[in-house]
Amino acid sequence: MAVTQWLSQVITEVGRAIERACFGQSHFRITTSEFSSTPTIDNLVQAKMALAEVRRQLTQDFSIDLRWPILLELKVPPAQGWKGAVYNPEGNMARHTVVDFKGTPAHQMWIRPGLTRARFKSLVAHELVHAFQREANFLNENLSLREGMARWVEFHFLKGSSEAERLLKLKHYTFGRSIEAILEYEFRSGRPATLTWLRSHA
Ligand SMILES: [Zn+2]
Repeated sequence: MAVTQWLSQVITEVGRAIERACFGQSHFRITTSEFSSTPTIDNLVQAKMALAEVRRQLTQDFSIDLRWPILLELKVPPAQGWKGAVYNPEGNMARHTVVDFKGTPAHQMWIRPGLTRARFKSLVAHELVHAFQREANFLNENLSLREGMARWVEFHFLKGSSEAERLLKLKHYTFGRSIEAILEYEFRSGRPATLTWLRSHA
């Protein structure tokens, strides 16, 4: 992490120096934007940039806003026992839980390092949906719809990629067929109505 920050700083400084030397105060600019589009997410700086992008997209596309602090760790989530295999058909890649943080609730998230950027972001989106369900206190009882909603959002983050097609074919991915029911609801009634419908469940 520190090395990336340092490197990023150096590149920015060198870029500015070249810019000044060659173009004065021209509009030409060397940026470090390549650090926000690396193929895999391997350190916390990249992870936090991706997290910020996912949060913006969730607000914009799904009216999902989180108020509690988010504590993100880039590591393999702790083992969860036999139930994990049912709910996580792809294995142990990401997890969300609510923890106490200086006397207030916070969202603890673990995401496995080394995932592709697209996969990382879709898993963050999935876990942030669970975070939102807890914060806004809905879908506590309907486990099938609760997981279905998270996969529905995850699917939209991946849509158009071969990854999305692959996920829909996974044996347990369509758990309780909820994701299909939600996609159908959205197709018929639109996204705002779908979100209202999902949030009406206790
Ligand atoms: Zn889930």
